[in-house]
Amino acid sequence: MIGMGMTEKQGGSDVRSNQTQARAIAAGGRGGAYELVGHKWFFSAPQCDAHLVLARTHDHVGLSCFFVPRFTPDGSKNAVQIQRLKDKLGNRSNASSEVEFLDAFGIMIGDEGRGVPTIIEMANYTRLDCVIGSAALMRAALVQAIHHARRRSAFGRNLVDQPLMRNVLADLALESEAATVLFMRLAHAFEQSADVAPATSAASSSAALAERAWRRIVTPAAKYWVCKRTLEFIGEAMEVWGGNGYVETGPMARFYREAPVNSIWEGSGNVMCLDMLRAMEREPEAAQALFAQWQADAAAHPALRAALGKLPRRARTCRASRGLGTTHRTADRADRAGHAAREARARRCRGGVHCHASRGRLRRKRPRLRHAARHVRSCGHH
Ligand SMILES: Cc1cc2nc3c(=O)[nH]c(=O)nc-3n(C[C@H](O)[C@H](O)[C@H](O)COP(=O)(O)OP(=O)(O)OC[C@H]3O[C@@H](n4cnc5c(N)ncnc54)[C@H](O)[C@@H]3O)c2cc1C
Repeated sequence: MIGMGMTEKQGGSDVRSNQTQARAIAAGGRGGAYELVGHKWFFSAPQCDAHLVLARTHDHVGLSCFFVPRFTPDGSKNAVQIQRLKDKLGNRSNASSEVEFLDAFGIMIGDEGRGVPTIIEMANYTRLDCVIGSAALMRAALVQAIHHARRRSAFGRNLVDQPLMRNVLADLALESEAATVLFMRLAHAFEQSADVAPATSAASSSAALAERAWRRIVTPAAKYWVCKRTLEFIGEAMEVWGGNGYVETGPMARFYREAPVNSIWEGSGNVMCLDMLRAMEREPEAAQALFAQWQADAAAHPALRAALGKLPRRARTCRASRGLGTTHRTADRADRAGHAAREARARRCRGGVHCHASRGRLRRKRPRLRHAARHVRSCGHH
C-alpha cells in the first residue's frame, strides 16, 4: 500500500508552497537516494509500505517526488516520526497522520523539479477512486433507503407505496445510476490509456483524443459533481429512515460522516473546477473531440442536445472570466492593466463624496456593483 505526503500546514491545494527539504546522499537526480527533513500536516495511513512525498532539493526551484519506504534498505525503520493521528469527522477506519521527517530516506522518482506532474499522475487515479467511492456510498445509502421504505408503514401504507416517497426514491435511484454509469465510463477511459494503439486514421485519432479528454477533463468534473452531490444524497436517504436515520446504531450516520471527505481531498471543489478549465485550455483539440462525441451521443435526445448546445459557450465564459483563453502574456497584461486602473481610481478618489456616489450607482445596475465595490476596496477611505 502506498500513501501520499503532499499537504503541509501552509498549503494543500497549493502544494508549490511545500517546504520539506531533500538532501542528496550521493549523486542526486532521478533514482538517487536522499534524506528528507520537514513536516507533513496530512499524511496517509502511516502503516503504508511507502509514501510518495513532495520535497524541495537545493539545486532546483521546482519540487521533486520521492518514494519514502517504511523501512530503509538495511531493514531499519525509516525516520518518519508519527506526531499524531488525525481526529477525523468520518473515515475513521482509515488513519491519517501528521508526520515529521528526521533525515528520512527517500528515492527520487521522475525528474528533478518535476515532482508535481509526477505525483499528479497518481492523483488522477485517486480522483477516479473518489468518484467510485462516492458513487458506492450513494448506492449503499439508496439500498438502505429502499429497504426501509418497503417495510415501514405510515398512514396505512408502506412508505414505498406513498406517491411522494416514490418520487424521492426514484430521484435517488436515478442519481445513483447516473453516478455509476459515469464512473464506469471514466474507468473505461483510464483502462484504455494503458493499452492505447497508435492512431491509424482521423476517426481513431479523434476517438483517442476523446478518451484522453475523458481522463483529463471529465475526471475533475466528475469528482466535483459526484462527490459534492453525495452529501445531499446521503442526507435525503437518511431522511427516508426518519429519526432512526439520525441515530448512530444504524448505518446512515456513518455514511453521512463519510460523505464530505471525497469532495475535500485529492483536490477540493474549486480546485477541480480550475483544473478542468486548465485542461480544456491546454488541450483544446481533446476538448473539441469530447464535445463532438457528446453531440453524436445526444443527437437522439432533444433535452440533452439543448443542454449540450449551451455548454461550449458557458465554458468559454468561465475561461474568459479567469483570463484563460488568452495567452498567458495577454492575461498578465490584462492583470497589470486592471491593477493600474484600480490604482488610478484609488488616486482619483478624494474622499467620502466620490465614494458615496459610487455606492449610489451600485443600486442601479448590478454589473456596476463589482466596479464600485472594487473602487471602495481600493480607495482606502473605507
Ligand atoms: C481525511 C483527510 C485525509 C487526507 N489525507 C491526505 C494525505 O494522505 N496526503 C496529503 O498530502 N494530503 C491529505 N489530505 C489533505 C487534503 O488533500 C487537503 O486538505 C486538500 O488538498 C485541501 O488543502 P488545504 O486543506 O490546504 O485547503 P486549502 O488549499 O487552503 O483550500 C481551502 C479551500 O479553498 C479552495 N481553494 C484553494 N485554492 C483556490 C483557488 N485558487 N480559487 C478558489 N478556491 C480555492 C479549496 O477548494 C478549498 O475549498 C487529507 C485531507 C483529509 C481531510
